[in-house]
Amino acid sequence: MADADASPCRACGACCATYRVSFYWAEAAARGLPPDRVEKAAPLIACMAGTNTAQPRCAALDGTIGRVVRCTLYAHRPTPCREVQPGDDKCAQARARHGLPVPVVRA
Ligand code: SF4
Ligand code: SF4
Repeated sequence: MADADASPCRACGACCATYRVSFYWAEAAARGLPPDRVEKAAPLIACMAGTNTAQPRCAALDGTIGRVVRCTLYAHRPTPCREVQPGDDKCAQARARHGLPVPVVRA
């Protein structure tokens, strides 16, 4: 998700509650992610806590999806969170899963 004031992500959060947010394990320490917000997903692979389930929701996400949300670890978020962009395919799939308009409506 993105975090600028005008970003549609501020009223969304769908991608934080759709995918397993996984990354190379060493990134957790390199980004300064708190250990209690990271889980082991596979050998050498970590994921954001709460995202390795059938109904994911990142433990770092505050708020109500589709209304008002905030990433409480924004400065420390791992690569997958930095790669997804409003309006791209992963965004669209996540928003559709949560019944939100696709394509994303920009603020
Ligand atoms: S699904 Fe799209 S609009 Fe929603 S938080 Fe993720 S990148 Fe932003
Ligand atoms: S770390 Fe932040 S941006 Fe990444 S999935 Fe969790 S709440 Fe979303």
